Amino acid sequence: MAYDTNNIFARILRGEIPCKKVHEDQHTLAFHDINPQAPTHILVIPKGSYVSMDDFTANASEAEIAALFRAVGKIARDIGAVEPGYRILSNCGPDSGQEVPHLHIHVFAGKKLGRMIAKD
Ligand code: 5GP
Repeated sequence: MAYDTNNIFARILRGEIPCKKVHEDQHTLAFHDINPQAPTHILVIPKGSYVSMDDFTANASEAEIAALFRAVGKIARDIGAVEPGYRILSNCGPDSGQEVPHLHIHVFAGKKLGRMIAKD
């Protein structure tokens, strides 16, 4: 899938749409989800134009990949989520229900998170 430069996260990265930022570094931005599914729900995204985890893991540099996962770990530590626990999730493609075509890792924390995947 070609990268859509007008997807909502691309617009957040360009500063066209506000976000509640929690972390930023050379390669990564993280902000609170607008419709949280847990008491804490943060989205961690690469600044590069990657549609999905598939695109990212095939085409991103080692530095971009390291930065994204370092950021996830740092954010979890910074919000105090390590001891109680947290969950990360990234939807990729139609079966996953991915809505925004710019790679994002969800970080959920702040309550017992229940089953990893709902029963059919
Ligand atoms: P997906 O379903 O693609 O894995 O997740 C997309 C996420 O982006 C959803 O959890 C949704 O609430 C969030 N989202 C959609 N639009 C916006 C927005 O404009 N700002 C923020 N902060 N989150 C958004």
